[in-house]
Amino acid sequence: MAHDDVEIADGVDHQVAMVMDLNKCIGCQTCTVACETLWTEREGTEYMYWNNVETRPGSGYPRDWESKGGGWESAEHNERSVGEIPSQQDYGENWEFDHEGILKEGEDKALKPENGDPEWGPNWDEDQGAGEHPNNYYFYMPRICNHCTHPSCVEACPRKAIYKREEDGVVLVDQERCRGYRYCVEGCPYKKVYYNAVTKNSEKCVFCYPRIEGEGPDDEVHPPACADQCTTQLRLVGYLDDQDGPIYKLVEQYEVALPLHPEYQTTPNVYYIPPVAPPQHSEDGESVDVERIPRSYLEELFGEQVNDALDTIERERAKVERGGHSELMEILQDKNPAQQYRLEVFDDD
Ligand code: SF4
Ligand code: SF4
Repeated sequence: MAHDDVEIADGVDHQVAMVMDLNKCIGCQTCTVACETLWTEREGTEYMYWNNVETRPGSGYPRDWESKGGGWESAEHNERSVGEIPSQQDYGENWEFDHEGILKEGEDKALKPENGDPEWGPNWDEDQGAGEHPNNYYFYMPRICNHCTHPSCVEACPRKAIYKREEDGVVLVDQERCRGYRYCVEGCPYKKVYYNAVTKNSEKCVFCYPRIEGEGPDDEVHPPACADQCTTQLRLVGYLDDQDGPIYKLVEQYEVALPLHPEYQTTPNVYYIPPVAPPQHSEDGESVDVERIPRSYLEELFGEQVNDALDTIERERAKVERGGHSELMEILQDKNPAQQYRLEVFDDD
């Protein structure tokens, strides 16, 4: 179970990782709500979604995060790319609704934001996607902090308040050390660190570390809430260097689970099974041999490796259709929680 062929950050014993199968996401936002309820129901966190689910193609959250820079100039990781801090409008305003008046006191008015007509918000372009009828397309992409192997947020912090912890590579902000300079917000190309204007600190996804450590009320180990609550159970959680686990097999062996925007060079530890859609239709409704989701778009998201990944998935699926056996297809369909969440494999080290 050693990690001799897996890239893990220096000084980190094991690396937690997550694989999300985009073919199973229905955009229900249950994961977003699970995370909100657990971590961001405090003052100053109202605009934060540590877990968000965005429609692709689309502007995402915060708006146009992919054009805001950050990350590294090259795979040498010796020079950071300059990034910018999104504006509050890019995250969206906090909309206030008169739930009390309308739902409880029976006021006769529409349930709509009280603080003016909003012009932007998370999921503003939900389900819009791209393409022309009948060949339009979209898919959902859940996003959390990637707990990168080369986190540019960590490098950006002059106070070393944000760090990658030794035991499992989770990236955390030390709330005592943080002075709210926001270099981390600028440095993260995925815009997954948030500034809390009330506490004047930065905050981010903590990979539910108390849950994976078994610190909950029942002393049991639990996967992160977003994974646990996911309606379609599309998330696998474990360690990248657990060579008997599905994450290692999907990422390293079959190479079908891919990091988002590998060109940012932070080496994410959240991986995605790329989406597959039915082929396009002609005007009269016949299937034509043209892919609905253009490969060029998937290459933009996942790099050229997506071509091999999709070819492998296609090949293995065809094998099963012919009556054969495919370990890859079995892993992708496995509903056994003991395989889906392998978090206690290194406890005896
Ligand atoms: S996704 Fe961003 S915040 Fe998370 S570890 Fe990577 S660089 Fe840091
Ligand atoms: S709970 Fe699961 S299916 Fe629903 S939006 Fe989140 S990742 Fe997608």
